[in-house]
Amino acid sequence: MDFKDFELIYDDNRIKIKDKSSIKTKLIEIVGNNNVSTKDIDILAYSKDSTLITFNWLLEGKISGLADFITWPETPEQISDILKLANQEKIPVIPFGEGSGVVGGAIPICGGIIVDMKKFNRIFGINDKDLTVTVETGTNGMNLERFLNKNGYTCGHIPQSLYTSSVGGWIAHRAAGQFSTKYGKIEDIILGMELVLPQGDIIKFKIIARASTGPQFDKLFIGGEGTLGIVTRATLKIWPFPEKRAFISYAFPSFEDSLEATRQIVRQHIFPAVIRIYDADETFRHFGNIEKAKDKVMVVFICEGIERLVDLEKLITRETCEKNNGVECGEEPVEHWFETRFKVTETSSTPTFKMVFDTIEIGFLWDKAADMYHSVIEATKNVKGVVLITAHVSHFYSNGVGFYFTFAGIPPKEKTNLEFYQEVWNTVIKTVEDSGGSFGHHHGVGINRSRWMPIEWGKSFDTMKDIKKLLDPNNILNPGKIFESLWKEIGEN
Ligand SMILES: Cc1cc2nc3c(=O)[nH]c(=O)nc-3n(C[C@H](O)[C@H](O)[C@H](O)COP(=O)(O)OP(=O)(O)OC[C@H]3O[C@@H](n4cnc5c(N)ncnc54)[C@H](O)[C@@H]3O)c2cc1C
Repeated sequence: MDFKDFELIYDDNRIKIKDKSSIKTKLIEIVGNNNVSTKDIDILAYSKDSTLITFNWLLEGKISGLADFITWPETPEQISDILKLANQEKIPVIPFGEGSGVVGGAIPICGGIIVDMKKFNRIFGINDKDLTVTVETGTNGMNLERFLNKNGYTCGHIPQSLYTSSVGGWIAHRAAGQFSTKYGKIEDIILGMELVLPQGDIIKFKIIARASTGPQFDKLFIGGEGTLGIVTRATLKIWPFPEKRAFISYAFPSFEDSLEATRQIVRQHIFPAVIRIYDADETFRHFGNIEKAKDKVMVVFICEGIERLVDLEKLITRETCEKNNGVECGEEPVEHWFETRFKVTETSSTPTFKMVFDTIEIGFLWDKAADMYHSVIEATKNVKGVVLITAHVSHFYSNGVGFYFTFAGIPPKEKTNLEFYQEVWNTVIKTVEDSGGSFGHHHGVGINRSRWMPIEWGKSFDTMKDIKKLLDPNNILNPGKIFESLWKEIGEN
């Protein structure tokens, strides 16, 4: 295949490598002949992740980013040697888990060497007393959860992308699973890790329940999105597989009522594993057949754990819903959610209808949550071409919530897909930032959101950039992500 026939979205930033064949020889010396590829088919396979606009680009014959080499190392030492070589030659290195990221984190926008983590797939076993499991970070999420379930445990981290994401991708993106309200997000679940720093040093953080030995340095690398280090091994918390699961659902007359009920539940220190509020439009979309939920706001709950506690949680959840005008809808809506929770047909089919579709998850404190929901919906509806803007709330804390907005539209004639996409994103993010929320709850920053980092972090973003410079003076580890924005240029195309 001749890539010259395609438009390369990120062409300007690509590092030109003078002597590709000598770099390839050196890479083969490090990882072996079978673990390096420069074949077009491989280069193309690693040109995008699951960022939705990249599907539109692909249908338009545009390629997001082209790497120069794909590698499949098997040990931290090999990764270290790749990074040392990359530093000598000033070639970017991009860690790659399973490419299910939705913000472009794994796209090789500056070219360079892809470090695919798939061969880091060993699960070292369970420590029952400590309730931990140690894994290599290329391990697929579903493989890990199946292994744990078979042995009577769960990790409690069940993202919708469980079948298509890796442990390393979860850590790199500060991921949040669907059962996070009880088990926590990945930063609550990880106890320790091993990683290779940008200049090749291999470091290990102690596996300990807690320590008071200085700042939480290890936390710096959770959410690093492959810019500060490549995580090779992690020890995660696990739990005995729940003895009982209770499915509960209530329909509320208004979004406000549903927020109030769930706020009161978590305020009582009751944390059902799953809580999901669907606004009226999403209730119609997912639960249109439930008569009691007609024109209402559906909330589904799953309480799980030991039987006696589950029964108590169920009782308090039900009482609190009923006190806040909830109408009981039984187990059926929750069974429906549970069976379809990994289905993403909507997402993958919209670009073929020439629609631009995406999801935006944001974080907010309780106080302004309802107002913020209405502001985002109203502002987005006013963008010309938007045909759908809906939301659900899927992550709950005693202090706030994580919202998940979904939009779809057909760009007006005067706008390209990308211009329309950007206008919707800008509208949502501006509304959120103006009201004091956070522009990303669990998908990370990647290429799209890095342009808002100075607004999100203020002056502390400069300090963050200093840390990046210190660890990675040649800026070889995943350039163009988090710390710098190359997105603006493509917006001007
Ligand atoms: C249908 C669908 C549903 C999703 N649902 C959820 C959800 O419920 N919750 C959620 O949090 N996310 C969700 N996501 C987003 C995505 O699945 C997560 O961000 C996931 O954690 C990415 O994992 P990955 O292995 O595919 O990483 P990739 O996409 O391959 O990489 C993501 C980032 O991590 C870096 N990286 C990968 N491995 C390593 C490593 N070992 N060390 C350092 N950096 C590394 C990459 O460089 C990149 O920046 C969903 C995505 C899709 C497509």
